[in-house]
Amino acid sequence: MQYWQKEIETMPRKELEAFQLERLKETIQAAEQSPFYKKTFSDHQISADQIHSLADLQKLPFTTKDDLRANYPFNMAAIPIRECVRLHSSSGTTGDPTVVLHSAKDLDDWANQVARCMYMVGVRDTDVFQNTSGYGMFTGGLGFQYGAEKLGTLTVPAAAGNSKRQIKFIKDFGTTCLHIIPSYATRLAEVMYEEGVDPRSDTKLHTICIGAEPHSEEQRKRIEQLLGVKAYNCFGMSEMNGPGVAFECTEQNGLHIWEDYTIVEIIDPITLQAVPDGEVGELVLTTISREAMPLLRYRTRDLTCIIKGDCPCGRTHRRLARFQGRSDDMIILKGVNLFPIQVETILMQFKELGNNYLITIDTVSNSDEMLIEVELSDLFTDDYSVLQQLSKDITRQLRDELLLTPRLKLVAKGSLPIQEGKAVRVKDLRKFC
Ligand code: AMP
Ligand code: ZN
Repeated sequence: MQYWQKEIETMPRKELEAFQLERLKETIQAAEQSPFYKKTFSDHQISADQIHSLADLQKLPFTTKDDLRANYPFNMAAIPIRECVRLHSSSGTTGDPTVVLHSAKDLDDWANQVARCMYMVGVRDTDVFQNTSGYGMFTGGLGFQYGAEKLGTLTVPAAAGNSKRQIKFIKDFGTTCLHIIPSYATRLAEVMYEEGVDPRSDTKLHTICIGAEPHSEEQRKRIEQLLGVKAYNCFGMSEMNGPGVAFECTEQNGLHIWEDYTIVEIIDPITLQAVPDGEVGELVLTTISREAMPLLRYRTRDLTCIIKGDCPCGRTHRRLARFQGRSDDMIILKGVNLFPIQVETILMQFKELGNNYLITIDTVSNSDEMLIEVELSDLFTDDYSVLQQLSKDITRQLRDELLLTPRLKLVAKGSLPIQEGKAVRVKDLRKFC
């Protein structure tokens, strides 16, 4: 049972922290070889011999996405490029591209992390694993592919889109486990029902790995119910390899972050100081095993917290709470700070509503307004008075959650744009000068 890595996964905290400290020192020495960190260390007069405890990590400056952009393409490399075997580049939606370089050992470590995650949620070499992520620069493709192969599943690299073909593969190849982004999972389920396929009786699906975008607990429950599976939250980002950084165990209560590969900090994004466990802040990660491109104190912009206490599963690696979104996803409306995930949490509680919604923020008569359009479920009535009452009920709950009153529009199923990549849930049409 190679991927239940018991010695590492249940290592007593003291030992784990000693292990991290050793790896941190090695990482700082290795990072010094990169033009970027060489200069940073010299500017801040830092060297590995000043690191005596994990707390000394705070002597190091943060690394940001802007640093990655400014050092595009190879200035962050800590080993010669000829020793690197792959790069992933992401352009994101705005700004210049970033590059992450990998050595053969880095890729092997990454595959090991993904295999460990999948094993943790019960996937075995007898399973058939279908990956619905795009293969290419998006790390959800190759990242899961190599992890699942390492675990020994039969892999179906279906790649993104083409729902009917995905469903055919699921049926024909007896797919038991899927990797899928949450907004596409609900879409795929809808297409199955439209095609007369009942995922419970007509497929062998039992486990799905959902991640790559924020989603609420309610959406997870909906996906589980629609597909008749267990769905596990999977967190990753290209700068930290990709999927496999943190993953839920079968307790479904927080994502274990693999602390033998990563040191985790949660900071207040304004003061940049550490926040106590249980308090939400920005996730900051340090790689401690990567050769080609170590990253020290990388500011992810993702907002989460460390869950207090031990996990009943026995793993000692700490757990991150479900992600609220990124600090740049926060909407500030009429002085109120809110996240799209709060809207989703309310909408998904209404069985009369479908899975697709869109939030539009605009300035109307000099005042900022929020419009929430949400599709009705196809089972639902078109009786006007029933819809009016439903609209009132939803608006009341949204107001209680958001502390402002949005305009709500219930629309027919299929009216909103179909989301097959990472879902775009917010359109902000306001003009900021
Ligand atoms: P990418 O650079 O395309 O790999 O995207 C990484 C980003 O996707 C992260 O920084 C998060 O904002 C988001 N993300 C990935 N996994 C999750 C997850 N399980 N829950 C919420 N957001 C996620
Ligand atoms: Zn656990």
